[in-house]
Amino acid sequence: MNSTKSGANSSSSYTGGTSSPRQSAIAAALGFNQSAPPIEFMTKTPETVFGENTFSKSVMKKRLPKAIYKSLMQTIEAGEKLDPTVADVVASAMKDWAIEKGATHYTHVFYPLTGGTAEKHDSFMAPTGDGGTLAEFSGKELCQGEPDGSSFPTGGIRQTHEARGYTIWDVTSPSYILENPNGTTLCIPTAFVSWTGEALDKKTPVLRSMKALDAQAHRITKLFGHDTKAFVASTAGPEQEYFLVDKNFYYARPDLLTAGRTLFGAAAPKGQEFDDHYFGAIPDRVLSFMFEVERELFRLGVPIKTRHNEVAPGQYEVAPIFETANVATDHQQLIMLVLKKVAKKYGMECLTHEKPFAGLNGSGKHVNWSLGSSELGNLLDPGDTPHENAQFLVFCAAVIRAVYKHQGLLRAVVASAGNDHRLGANEAPPAILSVFLGSQLADVFEQIKTGGASSSMPRGTLEVGVDTLPPLAKDAGDRNRTSPFAFTGNRFEFRAVGSNFSIAGPLVAMNTIVAESLDYCATKLEAAVAGDASKLHGSVQKLLTEIINECGSIIFNGNGYSEEWHAEAATRGLLNNKTTPEALPALMAPEVKELFSKYQVLSERELESRYETYVEQYCMTVRVEANLTKKIARTMIFPAAIRYQRELAATCTNLQALGYEFDTKTLDKVTGLVKELQDSITDLAEASADGCEEMVKCCEVVLPAMLRVREASDKLEAIVADDLWPLPTYQEMLFIK
Ligand code: ADP
Ligand code: MG
Repeated sequence: MNSTKSGANSSSSYTGGTSSPRQSAIAAALGFNQSAPPIEFMTKTPETVFGENTFSKSVMKKRLPKAIYKSLMQTIEAGEKLDPTVADVVASAMKDWAIEKGATHYTHVFYPLTGGTAEKHDSFMAPTGDGGTLAEFSGKELCQGEPDGSSFPTGGIRQTHEARGYTIWDVTSPSYILENPNGTTLCIPTAFVSWTGEALDKKTPVLRSMKALDAQAHRITKLFGHDTKAFVASTAGPEQEYFLVDKNFYYARPDLLTAGRTLFGAAAPKGQEFDDHYFGAIPDRVLSFMFEVERELFRLGVPIKTRHNEVAPGQYEVAPIFETANVATDHQQLIMLVLKKVAKKYGMECLTHEKPFAGLNGSGKHVNWSLGSSELGNLLDPGDTPHENAQFLVFCAAVIRAVYKHQGLLRAVVASAGNDHRLGANEAPPAILSVFLGSQLADVFEQIKTGGASSSMPRGTLEVGVDTLPPLAKDAGDRNRTSPFAFTGNRFEFRAVGSNFSIAGPLVAMNTIVAESLDYCATKLEAAVAGDASKLHGSVQKLLTEIINECGSIIFNGNGYSEEWHAEAATRGLLNNKTTPEALPALMAPEVKELFSKYQVLSERELESRYETYVEQYCMTVRVEANLTKKIARTMIFPAAIRYQRELAATCTNLQALGYEFDTKTLDKVTGLVKELQDSITDLAEASADGCEEMVKCCEVVLPAMLRVREASDKLEAIVADDLWPLPTYQEMLFIK
């Protein structure tokens, strides 16, 4: 592209004589040519590829001796202790399978507190002593690894010189093969703990919290006459939102590249106001990408189900069918990994940051959550027999109570620098936790509150079997998009989770607080019933009334985005922790420490280490963003602004010399903004001079200072000559693909 030459002093030096990185990016994005070979969708159908790269139950069944397979299933399905003697046999079968799939290496995959996925690869090959090598993989190597984990965040659990950490095979999450054009790797999901046995990862507490939930859920179902052995697992179906941008724009934007979000950028003339993107036709390049993502995930045994355009231009969503919480968590990490990997093949970058673009919807991860077992099914399904409805209401009330009692914790587990830009803005659920039940269920609980129900809403036709409870329909009510915690027919949907989060933290919190609530309910009911089953229904009625009277203020069925709700929530006494520095300290509250210790999910030390880590991550994020803001403002925006200023000044001088008048309004404005930019950069430098080590200061001083630099820059973007502007614009990033 040519630079515009203007003014008597015109010279190519304004743009350096060649096109700017931005102009080259536009040209490259427009010239995109698909080079990834098409997938063989006719010859290899989805059902033939599903799970082909996973060491799944069916593979194990085929390859393991019957007794070994049975013993392993007892561990996977019934949560029984792993018999160490099976490990050698499984390892050998796994190795043979992996080598047939081209694997030369194996890795213990683990999930450190960064929220990411970590791996260290080892070769199967061992020298035989006679100059040859042999592929080896023992039970011990399968079960335990010892990565040097000293560089992972531990929040003070270990000193760097005490680096010993272990990875331990998680039998319940299937191993899989990751492919690279030059070879494949066997990946084994593991837990990561310190030498002293403390959890250093996201997986360990998920497994512990599932165990706690199972134990308490069993007490309730037993009261209702279901004395079963099957493990009651929490289930999760995470919906992942993300943006796609052409890689040329991504690499021309140091902020996107390093911070994952734009720190500068004026709004595009057209944004999302026409609502023409949501569920719109998916562009071909994006659709090709989605097909490949889904296929890759299918091969890894991740049951992807849904895809669609999201609200903002350039924004999309993918969702799998739900699985048990632990497997869903690992698979969700794989989803993010595959999204990012495949996007590159299509010349794009996948952004999972919560708010890549100001003024447009951010991205969340809606975590659908429930609990159930192979024998009892979904325990949050209203069901269609009277018996089950009463049991359902106890589970449902337990969740309501849990959210009410632990609002602060639920807010804390979705707190991050990225998610702060989203929660509370006019699109995401508010930072205030509340529960949406839908009109029918809300009505049921409303009636329970007053001690008895005499009427029911017209759609209800199912008998509840508790005299005073009204009938209940299966699809219990409408949907509400503004609620952070919504009942959606047979599960709850936690919508405040950020798109870049591991879902482990939110799941650990939900499992544990509901375990505690179920414990509370079971203890009360067991005492009231005292072995006399005829007392059950009366006791249930009493308990439900009690819970709803104590915790009912958490129920809200209106518009969570509205100002009125914020005011009403305050009068109800609900928490409204708007930012991470306000939200995170809830992790250190005595009742939260007690909760996690009591159910053996996280010890006090483990919880503290998490708190420390998240505080540090928040501060580091702000520090990096402040540094980027200064650098981009000084080295990209400022030079562009003064080039334009010089052009205007030269024109003015030349015209005046010729006796013409020149209206200096634009020059005045640019000059004013250049000063504003310079001053704000100086302020930011001062605000961040101490290295951004304190959460509150980051939030209250550094972030606002960054915003002022952005404001000056965005105003300049609206006025500076387009050919001089260095950063790809919102319009280009969002609409060219
Ligand atoms: P929405 O209409 O809310 O966008 P989606 O179809 O995109 O719904 O996603 C709903 C998610 O909820 C899916 O991942 C689905 O598998 C999951 N889900 C359904 N039932 C359960 C359940 N019992 N436990 C957990 N997740 C569930
Ligand atoms: Mg969806």
